[in-house]
Amino acid sequence: MKREIPVNSEGHYTIGGLDSLELAKEFGTPTIVYDVAKIKEQIAKFKAGFEEENVKYHISYASKAFSSLAMYDLVAKSGIGSDVVSGGELYAALKGGMDPQELEFHGNNKSRAELEMAVDSNVGYIIVDNFYEIDLLNEVLTEKNKTADILLRLAPGIHAETHEYISTGQAKSKFGFDLQSGQASEALEKTLANPRFKVLGVHSHIGSQIFATAGFVEAAKKLMDFLSAWKEKYDFTAEVLNLGGGFGIRYTDQDEPLDVKDFVKIIVEAVKEKSKELNYPMPAIWIEPGRSVVGEAGVSLYTVGSRKDVEGVGSFVAVDGGMGDNIRPALYGAEYDAVLAKDPNAPIAQNASIVGKYCESGDILIKDYDFPKTEPGDVIAMLSTGAYGYVMASNYNRNPRPAIVFVEDGKARLVVKRESYEDMIRNEIL
Ligand SMILES: *Cc1c(COP(=O)(O)O)cnc(C)c1O
Repeated sequence: MKREIPVNSEGHYTIGGLDSLELAKEFGTPTIVYDVAKIKEQIAKFKAGFEEENVKYHISYASKAFSSLAMYDLVAKSGIGSDVVSGGELYAALKGGMDPQELEFHGNNKSRAELEMAVDSNVGYIIVDNFYEIDLLNEVLTEKNKTADILLRLAPGIHAETHEYISTGQAKSKFGFDLQSGQASEALEKTLANPRFKVLGVHSHIGSQIFATAGFVEAAKKLMDFLSAWKEKYDFTAEVLNLGGGFGIRYTDQDEPLDVKDFVKIIVEAVKEKSKELNYPMPAIWIEPGRSVVGEAGVSLYTVGSRKDVEGVGSFVAVDGGMGDNIRPALYGAEYDAVLAKDPNAPIAQNASIVGKYCESGDILIKDYDFPKTEPGDVIAMLSTGAYGYVMASNYNRNPRPAIVFVEDGKARLVVKRESYEDMIRNEIL
């Protein structure tokens, strides 16, 4: 299905109703522009899915997909929580105005300093990943004479149909307690026996950019079976079943994501069914969407510079960004669509790879792409770049990281400044 490409009366591509060429002129390029209404709409759809199912729930935005102070502020005001996976994210989330009680702290190798920071700042939930962390967190809590609400991260042994690097729920994953081998039961025993921990339930995150509901349903059922067995064995009833994130988005017109509201409903119904079958009290269902909250809301604006054409071999159209602001194509072959900002409906006139300015042959943003005619100075808008782009940005080749702009109600505001050359040497000592 082709997505709708909005244009204004001049035929220019618009983002949140604003002319993308004007945005490029005002803020420069490369710039990542977010349509805030789209972010809010996704959050509202997730909520609606749960509300319609009439279950207890908690939505936590997986902020590693895209974080900035303005984003945390937006999340806080949307009435949902957020995940953080490092001291740095925790710091930014608090600075951005998140209520610490609404934060979940994830990570497979949280340091003592990070756990201390989480405990000191009264983070709501710590998702405990491994035995080392059980001991470390116990030490930290004992020192501070505090307790923590925790969930146990489990590896349910389910392989989501996605890229190997973004699949996390299979048994051979670095994340979580393995379910099949008995590790998970041992972790439960240990944490239940320790009064410093209040075990709220279990967590699993099976992967990312998942289109099929089957993996989630399978994970939910498997976890419910284990919870039921644990109820018998340990007299433990989970209040929370956290099924993670991973809901797929549309990068190209080939992608057909399910509406997130429907996704939620299918998962909830599977848990309801299982809870009835096992006569297990219906747990609150928690989810942690990242990509699906911000991915399609973001657009990267680039300016075309040089080109190279080799007869019979191919063409390259180079833009002023690339792998430094979006490493996903180079890292795992991610695909995107792009439009010519001044005329998205212009006829296809070339097949060329849209490449960046970084000194790597792999610095290709879109490979062998059918595109309208381009000239130096044209603005290209690469679509659905809102997730895992800026947050993975680097200063490779000492290119500054791009600016970030939020567009809402017909207004644009800069929320992250473009880095300066000076910023890039700030920590250096001569
Ligand atoms: C990355 C991650 C998410 C979010 O995944 P998306 O694909 O961005 O929705 C949620 N939970 C955990 C534990 C994660 O690591």
